[in-house]
Amino acid sequence: MVNHAQAVYPDECCGAMIGSIDGDNKVVTYALALDNVSAGSQRARYELRPEDLLRADREARERNLDLIGIYHSHPDCGAYFSETDLKNSCPWYSFVILSIHNGKFDHAGSWLPNAEQTHAEKEDLIWPES
Ligand SMILES: [Zn+2]
Repeated sequence: MVNHAQAVYPDECCGAMIGSIDGDNKVVTYALALDNVSAGSQRARYELRPEDLLRADREARERNLDLIGIYHSHPDCGAYFSETDLKNSCPWYSFVILSIHNGKFDHAGSWLPNAEQTHAEKEDLIWPES
C-alpha cells in the first residue's frame, strides 16, 4: 500500500484490502492495487471501477478471505476522512487513508463509516513493522 501510494504520488492511489475478520479485529492479508479512474486531476480524488471491486471481492472469496476495505492516499495532505470520502464510502468497509508528504509515506488512519454515511468512526490501526 505504501509502495503503491508513493509510486503514484502526487496523484492519489486506491486499492482493495483483503484479509480476514475475527470479531472486532480485521487483519489485512494483502492489498490489491486498483486503477484510479477519476477523470481529470487525480491529485485530490480517486474513483474505483465497480467491476474492479467485484473482482477483488471474488478473488478474496476464492482464497477464503474477505474484502475488508478500501485504501487511498492523500498526497501532501493529512490522513483525515473528508466529506467526499464519506459521501463515496460504504458502511461495511474499513477505509484506510495514507498520508504522503513529498513522495514519502508519513502516517495513516482508518475509518468505519456508519450506515447513513453521515459519520465515520476512527478505528485503531496497527501498522506492520516493515
Ligand atoms: Zn480521501
